[in-house]
Amino acid sequence: MKQKGLLYTGKAKSVYRTDVKGQLIVEFRDDITAFDGGKKDRLANKGSYNAEVSAFIFRYLEKNGVKTHFVKMLDPRRMVVRELSMIPLEVIVRNLAAGSIVRNYPFKEGTKLNPPVTVIDYKDDARHDPMLNDDLIVALKLATPAELARIKATALKINALLVKLMAAQDITLVDFKIEFGRGGRTIYLGDEISMDSMRLWDTVTGESLDKDVYRFSKGDVMATYNRVARRITEKPGKAGRKRAPAQAGPEPAKSSIRQTKRKI
Ligand code: 5GP
Repeated sequence: MKQKGLLYTGKAKSVYRTDVKGQLIVEFRDDITAFDGGKKDRLANKGSYNAEVSAFIFRYLEKNGVKTHFVKMLDPRRMVVRELSMIPLEVIVRNLAAGSIVRNYPFKEGTKLNPPVTVIDYKDDARHDPMLNDDLIVALKLATPAELARIKATALKINALLVKLMAAQDITLVDFKIEFGRGGRTIYLGDEISMDSMRLWDTVTGESLDKDVYRFSKGDVMATYNRVARRITEKPGKAGRKRAPAQAGPEPAKSSIRQTKRKI
């Protein structure tokens, strides 16, 4: 397969055309950003850790009946995907309260959300990704009611599968963001699922294992990404139980997180 011209470049990934009809190449770059691009860095190997985890999760979801855009890996940071017409929705599923819902609503961090809470935002950086509801999604013609029902059901199925996958490695899936696209009449999971788009806590220590380490300068971001990539992609019992000691450094409200998490 030959990589052709750049089709699109985002904050952490670039998408290229190829010489194969209906297939694109997604390159996971080493760029990392937070707070609407207000904090930016380039961290060696970050792209390959996220690509590895995304590929592993896409394969796992496909095996369990979820249609994804994943085709194959070309090298550690370049993924071949089915070309989709992306739907500009950020579908977020939350199992525990953290991040923006703690800032915007009266939830205590770590509160268990059962059933999980699905929130859908309009993917539009200039508008700061405002939250949508079903009526707005249909009125804006972003998705039909039938597509929306399908997207929500698929998001909850993905959540159940990921909760199970992570639990086997003593990782609590707090929340994650996914995006969908149309390929013909079928809706596929697109984009990525990685440490940039999931919020993950060590079930035992409460330690952050995701982009919050970067957002809130909680420790060595790449050491965390590398360690989490090993834990997610290796067999349970191998990477899951034999962990490096928790990183040093203060973690706000760690004791309350730990207490809450013991109840899960
Ligand atoms: P929050 O709304 O709490 O900031 O984010 C909820 C979850 O969705 C977190 O796991 C976060 O990483 C993910 N998320 C929200 N917005 C974005 C985004 O624009 N890009 C990525 N990669 N992940 C996001």
